[in-house]
Amino acid sequence: MARYTGPACRRCRRENLKLYLKGDRCYSDKCSFERRAFGPGQHGQARFRKVSDYAIQLREKQKVKNIYGMLEGQFRNYFHKADLQKGITGENLLIMLESRLDNTIFRLGFASSRKQARQLVRHNHVQVNGRKVNIPSYLISVDDVITIKEKSRTNSYLVESMEAVARRGIPTWLELDKDAFKATVKALPNREEITMPIQEQLIVELYSK
Ligand code: SF4
Repeated sequence: MARYTGPACRRCRRENLKLYLKGDRCYSDKCSFERRAFGPGQHGQARFRKVSDYAIQLREKQKVKNIYGMLEGQFRNYFHKADLQKGITGENLLIMLESRLDNTIFRLGFASSRKQARQLVRHNHVQVNGRKVNIPSYLISVDDVITIKEKSRTNSYLVESMEAVARRGIPTWLELDKDAFKATVKALPNREEITMPIQEQLIVELYSK
């Protein structure tokens, strides 16, 4: 599956928001956003720029795409699925993105970034209900049991990430047994626990044009 391979920090500076794409570095004083909190590129420091409604909606969409590491085609597919569901489309969209296996692994602290979580899944370190699942976009369901394969539990990245998870906290829809490297999905993700500043209705407006 295609993915963005360009500089991650540039995306935070473009969105004028810390997107936490680089794990521990994001919490350190090496964070580029902390050092250079202005837009990337030649005109990044321009003081005044007229911003249209379209540009605001577009930036919101780009922000969410960047947070979850999506490309346009994948993201649009999620939007279409969210639109077909009952309820509020924007919320459906965010809940679906949160329900991805790679995001769940990140939220549990098994990885320090969604990118690292995706790699953990791809490289067969993760099992769901006792069976290997190496598809990062797999959508978790209530009562799913997620485990890290026994052989992979000494992976240094994983151990370091789990030590650092206290900083982020684990959402209430997940129950983690840290010693057993095992988690249970207690409920589907809820909107309230997505704490990044996201105005999902702007994305709905953009795609509804
Ligand atoms: Fe963004 Fe800072 Fe993390 Fe780079 S280090 S991805 S700028 S939060």
